[in-house]
Amino acid sequence: MMNLDSSWDLIVIGGGISGAGIFREAVRMGLKSLLLEQQDFAWGTSSRSSKLVHGGLRYLKEGRFFLTRDAVRERERLLVEARGLVTPIGFLVPVYKDRGPGRWTLEAGLSIYDLIAKRRQHDYLDAETFVNQAPNIDRKGLVGGFQFFDAQVDDARLVLRLIFEGMANGGTALNYVRVAAVGRNKDGRVNGVTVEEVHAHQTLSLKTKAVINATGCWAERLHPSPQKNRHLRPLRGSHLIFPAPVLPVDQAISTIHPADGRAFFVAPWEGAVIAGTTDLDHQNSLSAEPRITEDEVAYLLDGLHAMFPALDVSARDCIATIAGVRPVLSEGKCEPSEESREHVVWVDNGLVTVTGGKLTTFRKLAFDALKAAKPFLPTDTTTDEGSPVFQPFKSQPVSPSPLADSHWERLNGRYGDSAETIVTGTSPSDFAIIPGTQTMWAEILHAAAHEKIHHLSDLLLRRVRVGLLTAEGGREHLSRIRHLCEPVLGWNSNRWKKEIRDYQEIWRFAHGMPGHFARSRGRLKSFFFNVGKRLRKHFA
Ligand SMILES: Cc1cc2nc3c(=O)[nH]c(=O)nc-3n(C[C@H](O)[C@H](O)[C@H](O)COP(=O)(O)OP(=O)(O)OC[C@H]3O[C@@H](n4cnc5c(N)ncnc54)[C@H](O)[C@@H]3O)c2cc1C
Repeated sequence: MMNLDSSWDLIVIGGGISGAGIFREAVRMGLKSLLLEQQDFAWGTSSRSSKLVHGGLRYLKEGRFFLTRDAVRERERLLVEARGLVTPIGFLVPVYKDRGPGRWTLEAGLSIYDLIAKRRQHDYLDAETFVNQAPNIDRKGLVGGFQFFDAQVDDARLVLRLIFEGMANGGTALNYVRVAAVGRNKDGRVNGVTVEEVHAHQTLSLKTKAVINATGCWAERLHPSPQKNRHLRPLRGSHLIFPAPVLPVDQAISTIHPADGRAFFVAPWEGAVIAGTTDLDHQNSLSAEPRITEDEVAYLLDGLHAMFPALDVSARDCIATIAGVRPVLSEGKCEPSEESREHVVWVDNGLVTVTGGKLTTFRKLAFDALKAAKPFLPTDTTTDEGSPVFQPFKSQPVSPSPLADSHWERLNGRYGDSAETIVTGTSPSDFAIIPGTQTMWAEILHAAAHEKIHHLSDLLLRRVRVGLLTAEGGREHLSRIRHLCEPVLGWNSNRWKKEIRDYQEIWRFAHGMPGHFARSRGRLKSFFFNVGKRLRKHFA
């Protein structure tokens, strides 16, 4: 970091989707741009979402038409411009005689969705056809249901692709560098920041023409809300992840949770199935990894039992949990799920703060922030809202290709131009898919070599999601991962031991089962271990 230039046009604080989107567009505008993230890129909320790029049907119900309109339009653009990363997903919504939204309410919402997208993509199915699509669904009182299309994404990879393409086009982005303070001249105009390199404990002062504070839930630490009665209200949402055979669904299903009438969903994701979500005030420190509570696990399991009464899914089947904290602006007057998900922009003499919002609408947020920063930036720069967000999709670089078209599309979506390097520089055995995921071993090697890894957790929780998709954080794969990455990471044996220990601790804390659910899993494991030991002794 000591070699870092000391003077910038724009410094973006926060390496989540908001900061990454702003950084990508700022670089395209020709600004000398620096992005700083206090932890790893996407460490915050942006790797812990429900992974949907969606219009949000429920926002229509709440009368937030413009939010849905913007989100549906962005979804349509991203499906084209982020092909292979933002992918279509079918959604099923059952209609019951005596509960949940009725047929005509849903028909109205989905018709508006289609009008915005300018194509019809929903159908009403009778009960029998619906059950064929969702075989394990609760049939009591089922009268039929809808099928429509939305999109989903690997949220962390969306952030990373924006950041790495911004860097490839001349921007600079650093993880594990915290902004401690924003500096101003004697007239109060922003002129720099003080930064702290987290691992080296070094501090440095940098000059800049403007700063964009895109720190999500942390935003008020750098700039308090200018609205006296409206502040950030961190709201936690948690998910459970199951192996696909436990929850066999090949499209997403959304119902109403019986406890509180909130939307509850399951969706296939990356070879596993994700179920969520909760919506509660997050009382814990924002410095700690957010984690699911026992009550949230029980609530999500109740949702699953109501959706699929015959499946008998239990906490023991769950491979990982994810909890994230929504940055929501609130006047503190309503229930968490009634709070607006729209973003806000505050401008203060060279410091633009942008927070709230959704993953889906990151580009709109980026342009709103950059337009607000314009008076402080070099005069000859303008935003370019028409350009595709990413480099165009490429066809396979080698022929005959070692990859099926669908695998290439996925690789290109996640890594952009670097997908070519992965394909041409990989030994055939590393094209194999890690069981239970859609990730190739080659991706792990590429990320370790080229994607700013500081810790094993960066690699397994965000560059690839093996830590969330395989049992116990991918424990059985750790020795192969070490063998593969040792030559490029350059960690000695002690460092590997420490990284593995730290990673497993983070995993248990933030992605394992909490409290008594974890203890009962432990008891069950030791029961089988002891039975195994006795049997071995008996037959020895
Ligand atoms: C449970 C849940 C489900 C969701 N599902 C969806 C969904 O399906 N679709 C959708 O569109 N949206 C969804 N969202 C909303 C979406 O995830 C968030 O709005 C979005 O990720 C917020 O991004 P952000 O960049 O503003 O914040 P973050 O991702 O939190 O990024 C802020 C970053 O700033 C960094 N930072 C803080 N202070 C400093 C500092 N001083 N110096 C340097 N760095 C700093 C933090 O470490 C953090 O990484 C969901 C949110 C939650 C919680």
